[in-house]
Amino acid sequence: MAELSPVLQQATPVLAARGQGVYLYDEDERRYLDFTAGIGVTSTGHCHPRVVEAAQRQVGTLIHGQYTTVMHRPLLQLTERLGDVLPAGLDRMFYVNSGSEAVEASVRLARQATGRQTIVAFQGGFHGRTMGAGALTTSGVKVRAGIGPMMPGVAFTPFPETYRHGWSEAEAVRFALAELDQLLLTVTSPKDTAAFIVEPVLGEGGYIPAPAAFLEGLRERADRHGILLIADEVQTGVGRTGKFWGHQHSAITPDILITAKGLASGFPISGIAASSALMSKAWPGSQGGTYGGNAVAAAAALATLDVVRDENLVDNAAEQGARLQEGLRKVAAEHPVIGEVRGRGLMVGNEFTTPEGTPDGATAARAHAAAAERGLLLLTCGPAGNVVRMIPPLIVDSQQVDDAVGLWSEAVAAAVA
Ligand code: PMP
Repeated sequence: MAELSPVLQQATPVLAARGQGVYLYDEDERRYLDFTAGIGVTSTGHCHPRVVEAAQRQVGTLIHGQYTTVMHRPLLQLTERLGDVLPAGLDRMFYVNSGSEAVEASVRLARQATGRQTIVAFQGGFHGRTMGAGALTTSGVKVRAGIGPMMPGVAFTPFPETYRHGWSEAEAVRFALAELDQLLLTVTSPKDTAAFIVEPVLGEGGYIPAPAAFLEGLRERADRHGILLIADEVQTGVGRTGKFWGHQHSAITPDILITAKGLASGFPISGIAASSALMSKAWPGSQGGTYGGNAVAAAAALATLDVVRDENLVDNAAEQGARLQEGLRKVAAEHPVIGEVRGRGLMVGNEFTTPEGTPDGATAARAHAAAAERGLLLLTCGPAGNVVRMIPPLIVDSQQVDDAVGLWSEAVAAAVA
């Protein structure tokens, strides 16, 4: 008999038997309010009927049309449809299977297109676990510990953090951009720097929104030096932040945009978008993979985009996200252990801090477990695991938000008792 390796850490003790909408059910039909959405993946909820129908239809028609061997209609339709939502000018796409692979693909594209090597990433960022994407990841040492040396040609510089330093947004942005300028003067010459890669909301690193002025500062430096700007929208894309793309909370357009997670409601597919001028600099055949752009996943993605549009899920994310943050702030006001509630749209974090002002991962873990006991599934993030994050499906309604806030209030009270 074989068993699962303990290397896979499981955030909750739940054995999920089925999912419907915002709920998961275990084998005893116990119902859980799922504010994890499979780490921000089930954007249209679990088993949305239109996604199920599209996938089932495709399974019976063509499961695997290998895109470097034959093309298939679902991928062409998905690409055409993405044209409705992608920023103007980013009109060439290719596909792989996961966020990490898409990040790696963006690195290859940026290096080929510029002929330069260094990728600048921001401290606290998460871009994946493969050796290339992992080399860009600093959300916590567990992703790197014991597995180096990582991919060379990476330089790190701070992400603007207000709460941790007790700074205003303007101070945090000024510091981060000054550090980036210093990096380009001292560590990696602009002539050697291929790209900046940034999450519009720092995800695994603690749910910290990037201020618009920071992204705009990156854009300005990228333009000045001929460096590419890669937006890792793996977690922030497809409506999650209350705009279709997370970078749209600022005035920038990235050169390369990466999408995954919420794109297909749970089917594995990820995409890389860039301009035709940029894509034409990629070496033909240097990207792709056996399962990339799978036909069933593409059909599910197409249905997901239709549901997001037809059910106004981007607006719903903005509206319910505001309601969620308002409710959570009331809970935080009663419990000083929660130092900050922050986020964008339905990507919301609760940061736990000791009275001395240090990260309080222990209390966060207790609150997280107490919530699961009460039927509310959540995740933690942040380098010390001290941020409890809430990332429900985009279909969540006001009653479900209020239910979650109620359960969270009980869970925090139990954690500090
Ligand atoms: N980038 C970001 C911003 C992510 O949040 C994640 C996953 N949490 C990844 C990349 C990696 O995606 P995957 O797990 O699909 O490889």
